[in-house]
Amino acid sequence: MGSTGSIGQQTLAVMAEQTDLFVYALTAHSQVDQLISQCEAVAPHVAVVSDPSQYAALAEGLKMRGLKTEARAGREALRSVAEADEVSHVMAAIVGGSGLEPTYAAAAAGKTVLLANKESLVMSGELFLSSIERTGGEVIPVDSEHNAIFQCLGNSRAVGSTVAKLLLTGSGGPFLERPMDSFDSITPAEACLHPNWSMGRKISVDSATMMNKGLELIEACFLFGVPSAKIDIVIHPQSVVHSMVAFEDGSVLAQMGQPDMRTPIASALAWPERMTSGVSPLDFVSGLQLSFRAPDHDRFPLLDLCRQVAAGGQSVKVALNAANEVAVDAFLQERIRFTDIERIVKTTVDAMAIEELPSIEAVLSFDSRCRLEAQRQMTKCF
Ligand code: NDP
Ligand code: MG
Repeated sequence: MGSTGSIGQQTLAVMAEQTDLFVYALTAHSQVDQLISQCEAVAPHVAVVSDPSQYAALAEGLKMRGLKTEARAGREALRSVAEADEVSHVMAAIVGGSGLEPTYAAAAAGKTVLLANKESLVMSGELFLSSIERTGGEVIPVDSEHNAIFQCLGNSRAVGSTVAKLLLTGSGGPFLERPMDSFDSITPAEACLHPNWSMGRKISVDSATMMNKGLELIEACFLFGVPSAKIDIVIHPQSVVHSMVAFEDGSVLAQMGQPDMRTPIASALAWPERMTSGVSPLDFVSGLQLSFRAPDHDRFPLLDLCRQVAAGGQSVKVALNAANEVAVDAFLQERIRFTDIERIVKTTVDAMAIEELPSIEAVLSFDSRCRLEAQRQMTKCF
């Protein structure tokens, strides 16, 4: 799901190296031409565009190229492929809260969910994981930090009593050294220019504000069942150590590699085995330098907010995520400044009353109200 995106394309690149993996369905939002080209390459049974207005273009395009792939469109169609009996594994690589419903549907259908779409877990953590438990499904982290911790725990999400800390590393993004008095003039192009990783635009902006690390903190609390106090964030500009686990006896295990998402994708696809990914191993003897430091909380105030939110209930997490998506989208459209993102997220989280969210429907309804509130907060930026 999300095959035309950064993670989606890299997943297909890894799968192209394998002969025993088959694609049942590919999904995109509206990039029909790219989706059709992918269908030509892997011949899935079904192709879905979630934007219904693109249905005719998809159906006609597939037909014109003589492909047997069935075209479907809309949210229900997304759900239908996530739940299909033919499917064992679902790569959840849609960006943002739009991924929640289909990713949750895969969990509720007992699939092995390869989770890149961290926003869905932030929005629905306990509901999502109890659904996985109920149905006998699995969730395997694709996010590189969580995949690293998963590997350091012995291909497991179980954090035993011998674990002292989870150490979540982050590069610090493109503005680690930029003078803070110039943050107001940061452009979308500058924010999307990540020093180490090539990613979609939304997560690139999240990396620039370090909201990404904050979302990952919450993601890690859910995935590994630990309180946020058990997780430290460490800045590591080279992105070679993807995260670490510190044990009580003083041992620290790190997972290392090139900053290339094909490695965690291959690790998740092959779990509990391994497969080739096309990524070359690290070269340790040609000047590799590794450095680590504490995060600068004045420079990246969203980190503190995320820590507070991590200790709160589900509705605060939904508000945090929704406000961030609205603000990042507005920043990418050059409607607000880079520094407004933090203000909109904080004021929206403060404005929303805490609610119990006992179902995915309740989460989605609260999410819509948070987005409206974030839009309202945004009008104060002008
Ligand atoms: P991209 O923006 O590159 O791709 C997003 C994908 O989702 C595209 O296939 C897009 O379709 C589809 N999509 C967009 N909007 C919708 C919608 N409303 N309904 C259904 N599908 C939609 O994102 P990334 O690949 O960078 O990120 C995907 C997820 O993975 C995010 O949650 C991100 O946080 C996470 N992640 C990404 C990493 C990376 O390196 N990129 C690293 C770790 C995690 P279309 O192309 O048609 O618009
Ligand atoms: Mg990550």
